[in-house]
Amino acid sequence: MTETAPSIPDRDAVRDALVSWYEDDHRSFPWRETDDPYAILVSEVMSQQTQLGRVVTAWEAFLDRWPTPEDLAAADRSDVVGFWSSHSLGYNNRAKYLHEAANQVIDEYDGTFPETPDELQNLQGVGPYTANAVASFAFNNGNAVVDTNVKRVLYRAFDVPDDDSVFEEVASDVMPDGASRVWNNAIMELGGVACEKTPSCDTAGCPWREWCHAYETGDFTAPDVPTQPKFEGSRRQMRGRVVSLLKEYDELPLSKLGPRVRIDYGGQYGEKWLRELCSDLEGDGLVKLEEREEWVARLRR
Ligand code: SF4
Repeated sequence: MTETAPSIPDRDAVRDALVSWYEDDHRSFPWRETDDPYAILVSEVMSQQTQLGRVVTAWEAFLDRWPTPEDLAAADRSDVVGFWSSHSLGYNNRAKYLHEAANQVIDEYDGTFPETPDELQNLQGVGPYTANAVASFAFNNGNAVVDTNVKRVLYRAFDVPDDDSVFEEVASDVMPDGASRVWNNAIMELGGVACEKTPSCDTAGCPWREWCHAYETGDFTAPDVPTQPKFEGSRRQMRGRVVSLLKEYDELPLSKLGPRVRIDYGGQYGEKWLRELCSDLEGDGLVKLEEREEWVARLRR
């Protein structure tokens, strides 16, 4: 049976929220500051097997030594492989392919990189993912990236079924037209620093909390997270969650608020705990607690 893609609520607001979040504060990597396809290709190939933090030094040294595809094409292949090993960048074949790809750019494309994901795949060692990344980041001409991180984000946020073709469909639907550079960076950053296997929705200020299905239900499993991650709810995080829920619902009885705030609501984290948390927020002028048939928390406006 073919799964159906859920529709994205408030699509424009969802897009704007993610792009603003990314533009306000994202991890800075030097390859995010360039649109040189060669430099971007080198960063993509290096990061396939190496942690991003360690790639920075290797990437800078590589571009110092071979600043252009012409320089790399003219290099001795054994020097490129030697560089790769000495910087612990993983399989040496990747160095050979990169060298070969530089030669192709010079010989087959007159020194100018192709600009589409399809054409970029003609380069040695460049698969669909890398081709799309270079097309996006160098030419703003890519499709929506769908990698493990992106699947995890879409699965949790919009309750997308675990089906590759549906992920593709939703990922393209949510990406604004002609914005693959910023969008692919932003959604991958979301998966990398907020919606990780154990998510940090509030501490990372995830811009999709108000729409996120997982955030609302407390079920943070995902295709690559088959069992509920251990969710260490800090008090600060729980306070943020109460406020954001009340922004959405305006008011909620504690029996409805509690299970939305934490997945293990009950026991030591039951109503008494929630009333104290809401009283704190009341003291800060953010929330109003009212005793009706049962206790109700309301956002103070
Ligand atoms: S709110 Fe949490 S679970 Fe939802 S997309 Fe953001 S980080 Fe992921």
